[in-house]
Amino acid sequence: MIQLRSIAVSMGVLALAACGGQPEPAPAQPDAARPDAAQPPADAGGIAAADAVFWGGAIYTADDSRPTVGAVAIADGRIVFAGPEAGASIWMGPETRIIDLNGGAMYPGFTDSHVHVMGVGQRERNLNLDDVLSVAELVSRVEAAAAEAAPGSVVYGRGWIETHWPEGRFPNRQDLDAVSPDNPVILTRADGHALVANSAALEAAGITRGSVAPAGGEILFDGAGEPTGMLIDTAMYPMGELVTEPEGAERGDIYAEGAMRLASLGWTGAHDMSVPYTDVDIIEGLAEADRLPIRTYLSLNPDGYAWLAPQAPRVADDGRVITRAIKLYMDGALGSRGAALLEPYADRPETSGLAIAEADETISVMTQALREGVQVNVHAIGDRGNRHLLDWVEEALSQVPEDERALTDHRWRDEHSQIIDPADIPRFAELGVIASFQPSHAIGDLHFAPDRLGDDRLVGAYAWQSLLDAGAHITGGSDAPVEQGDPRIEFYAAVARADLTGFQGENWHAEEALSREDALKFFTLWPAYASFREDELGSIEEGKRADFTIFSADIMTIPAEDILTVNPWMTVVDGEVVWESPYSFHHGEE
Ligand SMILES: [Zn+2]
Repeated sequence: MIQLRSIAVSMGVLALAACGGQPEPAPAQPDAARPDAAQPPADAGGIAAADAVFWGGAIYTADDSRPTVGAVAIADGRIVFAGPEAGASIWMGPETRIIDLNGGAMYPGFTDSHVHVMGVGQRERNLNLDDVLSVAELVSRVEAAAAEAAPGSVVYGRGWIETHWPEGRFPNRQDLDAVSPDNPVILTRADGHALVANSAALEAAGITRGSVAPAGGEILFDGAGEPTGMLIDTAMYPMGELVTEPEGAERGDIYAEGAMRLASLGWTGAHDMSVPYTDVDIIEGLAEADRLPIRTYLSLNPDGYAWLAPQAPRVADDGRVITRAIKLYMDGALGSRGAALLEPYADRPETSGLAIAEADETISVMTQALREGVQVNVHAIGDRGNRHLLDWVEEALSQVPEDERALTDHRWRDEHSQIIDPADIPRFAELGVIASFQPSHAIGDLHFAPDRLGDDRLVGAYAWQSLLDAGAHITGGSDAPVEQGDPRIEFYAAVARADLTGFQGENWHAEEALSREDALKFFTLWPAYASFREDELGSIEEGKRADFTIFSADIMTIPAEDILTVNPWMTVVDGEVVWESPYSFHHGEE
């Protein structure tokens, strides 16, 4: 059995470099301590030796000059050799671990460009409803949880999505009251933009007949004028006060649990969205204590701007945790009809969604961010939300001359980029806005997006290939815990553009699927670019950091449906095996 950390560089030594809170040079800069990759380092005896050599299976590099190699050698957390198998032997010393992929396949480290790590950790702890198949099943899950809950405590769950349920409706408070008359119940929909609450929760939050939803939200009422229990977008906020947020050390524990879950799925990095700035110390502390298995790149909630700006990019633990972005919101989600559209919803003509952001306020944050080098990542789903975002970026760029900007290359991101008016597609490249996509959203939404939008607006929806063709940078993620957060599902969705049963539906624009070569970059090299790290991460090239994802089979060549059943075998970050499957390739060999 392989020893965990047997490949490890000394994380303790690396941590010392950053623990004084002293910002390091921008991570895109070449590292002064970087070994000269062209020259094998010699040990005291004059024999070149790597810490580990990987070979014996397909190795994809995401490097166009050499898309596959036969072997990879690593030393001190970096790639020192990537080339033909025959070239690897000079790197093998008596201490070098030889890892035979034995039919598995190796890739640059997969990075989730849009995920909520704390939410993934909380999902592990709360009522996880993402596999519920009906209102009836939802109710029985709540019944079981309420039976175990302390009197008066809140039963909180998330992850349900009614799209395929046989009842063909949202759950309501009566469903929940039947099994939990006393404990408040709050169940957030998978998209995070709606929830259903029972009567006890509604009462505790003061939501009754005649309550008026705040701007940007909606309270659903039944025919008798009573709240149904469904609250949308900003109308959910009063419920937030009923759910006690974990605090202090518990937040660190939950975060570490979420990060370990991601590592076990094969992710080596996470672009963590909507992080409270007060959590940054906690996350950095985890890294320094060697409790953070993957890299995290943090986008803070807007109120973290003033804290971040003077120190962006803030780099901890030799780049394991980097904070240089904030996350704003333009609109809501498509499923709950919160996405802001240019024209009304096809299936509810009285609404065209909810625009959340104000132009003046947003442009003012953007101009400051250009001057101070903060990356601005903005949630935008509907074509109006996306149009506003592009308009406001254009305005901010026009207000701040290039010589007053902290970076020539701002790399701001449109998070989701879901429904785009085709006229706006070329503007992404023109304005230097990266389209950040979550392929699993497209294969879930294909069941209702045609109803919401009508067929015409599906041109420009989830338009991965069109954005790429138009010269835009794109990057891929999962939005877990909104989605499962599984790299296999995301990669499959990107190349198949069909749901997990293979269903695609008419008019779902199969031509927007990505090639496998592009899909690989979508989760490796392009997330590195979207986080200013392409010089260090994202491909298997000599000199870069040794971050790898190893699966049980070659996802570049197997039939698309088989991608869903490969097994993650090993996750390597900075040359350290941070997770490995007990069923992996070398099991029983050592
Ligand atoms: Zn998200």
